[in-house]
Amino acid sequence: MEKRRLGRTGFLVTPISFGALPMQRCTMEEAGEVLIAALDAGINFFDTARAYTDSEAKIGKYIAGRRSEYFLATKSMARTKAAMTEDIATSLATMKTEYIDIYQLHNVKTEQEWEAVMAPDGALAALKEAKAAGKIRYIGITGHNVDMLIRAVKTGEFSTVQVPFNCVEQRAMTDLFPLARSLDVGMIVMKPLGGGLIDHVDLALRFVLQQEGVVAIPGMDRVEHVTENLAAAQNFRQLNPEETAKLTALAAELGSNFCRRCGYCMPCAAGIDIPQMFIFHLQYTRYGLKTAIPARYQGAKVKASACIECGECEERCPYNLPIRERIKQVAKDLG
Ligand code: SF4
Ligand code: SF4
Repeated sequence: MEKRRLGRTGFLVTPISFGALPMQRCTMEEAGEVLIAALDAGINFFDTARAYTDSEAKIGKYIAGRRSEYFLATKSMARTKAAMTEDIATSLATMKTEYIDIYQLHNVKTEQEWEAVMAPDGALAALKEAKAAGKIRYIGITGHNVDMLIRAVKTGEFSTVQVPFNCVEQRAMTDLFPLARSLDVGMIVMKPLGGGLIDHVDLALRFVLQQEGVVAIPGMDRVEHVTENLAAAQNFRQLNPEETAKLTALAAELGSNFCRRCGYCMPCAAGIDIPQMFIFHLQYTRYGLKTAIPARYQGAKVKASACIECGECEERCPYNLPIRERIKQVAKDLG
């Protein structure tokens, strides 16, 4: 399988690499099987996060002994220097590694978060310190807010950028990828299958891989996923007009009722983190995280049931989603 160069990191990685978010729902043994199958099949880039519960621990347990065979990326929601320093140490220990190839700021989406991470005592300062100490090799950023990612890439501080991109969420293609390419920033595509909503795997992944230089990290939690996802890269060819039409029809069908997690609906009058509520709900209904998600949902400061139905969010949503109706569904299913 031909590898792709991940921007200025110079890493040559498999165009289909490993997204470790769904591994949370596997048992330790199942996770071990998937990770080892992925490595054996030639996947050489694994992306996880501090926030993906025990995903880092599973990597540490099962593939740390083969560390030279893969590039490793993780990320943290820490916004301060102190919290990020602690998270880097935890990631290193949990994944049993001396270094992490790419450490990313996880989902920076608001102005306040941006200011916090870029401040002298912010998370970026900790990443730079860790880089100088050889604990991490490159610094990246991830998010759903394309405007924020454009701003981040322009600073020159980040060697990689991770963004959702698929047949439904195409904005990165026009607004972010050309900029990233021009600045030699590696492009990592999360949710190439729309977080599990797009079921034409071969078409959906080939659509993503048509973008020059991008690397896709579909989530995998079964050995079949490894085989199925890799096939898209191994048999890669441009989509023909018929395939494009099929995917366009699917995107149109999903497009009217699909939260892109852009955050434009915020702030909510009642203090609800609206996109986060939809993420919880998606994970609950689609990923089968029937225990972990209700527990995490209960930890949210403001729950969906607090909605006062003011409708302000719907005025701001560029996709005209029926947010009130959907928030009600979240409250019904998760409390
Ligand atoms: S509900 Fe609409 S505005 Fe809010 S994150 Fe989803 S797509 Fe964006
Ligand atoms: S309608 Fe509900 S979710 Fe939307 S802004 Fe008002 S309180 Fe928040």
